[in-house]
Amino acid sequence: MSGIRLYDTAAKAKRDFIPRDPKNITVYVCGPTVYARAHIGNFRPAITFDLLVRLLRHSHGDGAVTYARNITDIEDKIMARAAETGRDLADITAEAERWYLEDAAALNVLPPDIAPHATDHIDEMISMMTALIEAGHAYAAEGHVLFDVTSDAKYGAVSHRTLDDMVAGSRVEVAPYKKNPHDFVMWKPSADDQAGWPSPWGRGRPGWHLECSAMIAKHLGTTIDIHGGGQDLVFPHHENEAAQSRCTHAGAPLANYWLHNGFLSVDAEKMSKSLGNVVTIESLLSAGHRGETIRLAMLTAHYRQPLDWTDALLTQAKTVLDRWYRVLEGAPVLTAEPDAELVAALANDLGTPAAIARLGVLAGTGDAAVLRASANLLGLLENDPAEWREGGADADDDIDALIAERAAAKAARDFATADRIRNDLAARGIILEDGPDGTIWRRE
Ligand code: AMP
Ligand code: ZN
Repeated sequence: MSGIRLYDTAAKAKRDFIPRDPKNITVYVCGPTVYARAHIGNFRPAITFDLLVRLLRHSHGDGAVTYARNITDIEDKIMARAAETGRDLADITAEAERWYLEDAAALNVLPPDIAPHATDHIDEMISMMTALIEAGHAYAAEGHVLFDVTSDAKYGAVSHRTLDDMVAGSRVEVAPYKKNPHDFVMWKPSADDQAGWPSPWGRGRPGWHLECSAMIAKHLGTTIDIHGGGQDLVFPHHENEAAQSRCTHAGAPLANYWLHNGFLSVDAEKMSKSLGNVVTIESLLSAGHRGETIRLAMLTAHYRQPLDWTDALLTQAKTVLDRWYRVLEGAPVLTAEPDAELVAALANDLGTPAAIARLGVLAGTGDAAVLRASANLLGLLENDPAEWREGGADADDDIDALIAERAAAKAARDFATADRIRNDLAARGIILEDGPDGTIWRRE
């Protein structure tokens, strides 16, 4: 027994984590829909589940965990962006995926083992719909394929909503081709000028829920150990994933544990593009914050609690990291096991507030080796202490990345972006000099 306990949304309780096979633990997290730069709220699940995977690897062994985080690269928001800008869908998704991975790397989020793309799994989605239709769980109508929620006695098991609740709080789309207003779309028709794939029901595209179900079945199998995502995904996304997968696989559950992170807000309002209160990792890095500072700030709140994002949070995190790095500076780099009390805090449903408090105690003892090993489990204190004090190698990497981005903007004749990057860097005291061999930079 690893002693790990996790809050399972479906059970509405903390449960001992018992893997199906302790040598082959499977974790799936719904990844980004790639059409724009993600905001820091979108990175809360990335950091939360990165921490979970680090903990599972610590307790069960590096090779014992397979972590998949998908890329949703076909979705109506992406198509709307393509229509608005006249750009190719594939260009938009490739660019936004690159941004996401750059930002995740800056936050020391390890790449998942598998990063499946929805558009590479259309055949698997078609097979799943075919099986569901044959089994009487789905039907085709007017170029759509719909899941019949009344065919699934367990529908509602993840979110604890009953069909009656859903009717009461209804915002579902009533459409003539639906037998029941709560039936959800697995496949929908595409107009000639829209992205689409051939299918037995005509040219169309998949619904978002189906994408995850098909990718999980293909890469991780029928039943996985842990399924994660943000709280907003509990219903309908995860409920619908669970229904499709269960009904395809003769009642076998999609996941044994369902984990959901709380929301990140700004001034008590949810961070979202439509509210215009979005902060990006890029903008924080440009303002001189380091990825590790952002990561620690994010981990100060327990993952299920709401987190209100403020500048003070970053300032505090920076002060704490400065203090911890001072303990490491000059100390020999020795290997050690992470502190048992810290591991126990994390094993208790990723108790990061207690784990961070424990790091403070360890820093106070001056035992650099245990402090480093313990912080590393949270993806912290992995930088060189002298570089941290001087402003950090990763701060310089980000300058190089911005210079490359400015060169790309200039090449694309996007001078507004190029000037903005130069001005942002100037505000940090970084002066750019363009020369025949490219751009070099120096501090003021
Ligand atoms: P999306 O790209 O919109 O599908 O979102 C990717 C992930 O970010 C999902 O797991 C969402 O639940 C999560 N998410 C979106 N906004 C926030 C927020 N403000 N705080 C925490 N998680 C969020
Ligand atoms: Zn999903």
